[in-house]
Amino acid sequence: MNGIDSSHDPALRSWLASANAAQTDFPVQNLPFGRFRRSASAEPWRIGVAIGDQVLDLHAAQHSSGWPADLGQALAALAAGDLNTVMALPQPRRQALRMAISAALAEGSAQAASLADCLLPQAQAEMALPCAIGDYTDFYTGIHHATTVGKLFRPDNPLLPNYKWLPIGYHGRASSIGVSGQTFHRPWGQTRAEGADPVYAPCQRLDYELELGVFVGQGNASGRPMGMASAEENWFGLVLLNDWSARDLQAWEYQPLGPFLAKSFATTISPWIVTREALAPFRVPFSRPAGDPAPLPHLDSDINRTAGAIDIRLQVLLQTAAMRAQGQAPQPLTTSNYADAYWSVAQMLAHHSSNGCNLQPGDLLGSGTQSGPTPDQGGSLLELSGGGKLPITLASGETRSFLQDGDSVVLRAHCERPGARRIGLGECVGTVLAALA
Ligand code: MN
Repeated sequence: MNGIDSSHDPALRSWLASANAAQTDFPVQNLPFGRFRRSASAEPWRIGVAIGDQVLDLHAAQHSSGWPADLGQALAALAAGDLNTVMALPQPRRQALRMAISAALAEGSAQAASLADCLLPQAQAEMALPCAIGDYTDFYTGIHHATTVGKLFRPDNPLLPNYKWLPIGYHGRASSIGVSGQTFHRPWGQTRAEGADPVYAPCQRLDYELELGVFVGQGNASGRPMGMASAEENWFGLVLLNDWSARDLQAWEYQPLGPFLAKSFATTISPWIVTREALAPFRVPFSRPAGDPAPLPHLDSDINRTAGAIDIRLQVLLQTAAMRAQGQAPQPLTTSNYADAYWSVAQMLAHHSSNGCNLQPGDLLGSGTQSGPTPDQGGSLLELSGGGKLPITLASGETRSFLQDGDSVVLRAHCERPGARRIGLGECVGTVLAALA
């Protein structure tokens, strides 16, 4: 895996000035896909590409002359608002599409004049989920999170023996996935305090989880595992993902079959899918601590060892209702890096399909909470507050063990390294509303 080509050239500039700003998440080297329409309109949803502070409308752009003729099928699907069809394309076709969009948006493009009429400011766009999500599975690849949370739930036995042999996951709920801006009511559920009978009441220990979401590209036929080589080519791209979690429901319900209602009430993702191809410059070696078991052959490959991990800098911020009322910006709580994950993206796909389960274009896989190695790098409040025992104090003077009504959680991520153009994943924002009576 190298995959670095002229579309990643850090010297490449766009004819659109805002795409050349140093800190933009969306320079011409990124080119993420999302689904949008003009705010407060009833227009059909369209697929667009984020570029600088604008969206390139691929419905309008289909009429620009200069697209390579062999992209007709992909462009027609995108123009119709259908990203799943493009996700299902073989990787070389997705790569060809990226090269064509890169050329069209690059400085000096003959398409510049016609495409300049196909832009909408992102500030005037309303975003939807980027594609049809058939199934959602949440993994648990953050070993620092798994160890810290394991200690809280099982002090004598934090990391169960299967953890280092296979990527642990559970089947999540696709219907309650929403796009950034999502609000949801504090869930009700059954909880049990130590020594008391269970009660049905609003969740008291509501939490977020800092995760990435992986969109599956081309799927696999039922009964035919993907294998690592195919898995590596068959993931489409990444978004930020907040796996909202009701810890009190979770502690009571999770044994023996894992999370259920503690997770299924809401999941929020960022609107722009940053493609696998855009992330090529940020791939780094995937390694295990000395003495840990080597992955079994069906979860191992040369590419995975040399470039299976991805250097993505992750951040969580919190804005309370009081902060919002006073015009205070969200306060940073945590940073971590996706390169610390214990299992790679390809290993999640290969494991998920290893029993013959068919993955489909647009399926979503959560990475699990990505906490860093130090205590201040917990990717959830459960970790940062020591299971609720050590509330954190915010700059506003407020304290939090778990989320309060009106709290907004913001996830951000970007990639940067010397010799490559910085790219970002945008934002994933969600807000807690009071429980319904
Ligand atoms: Mn999770």
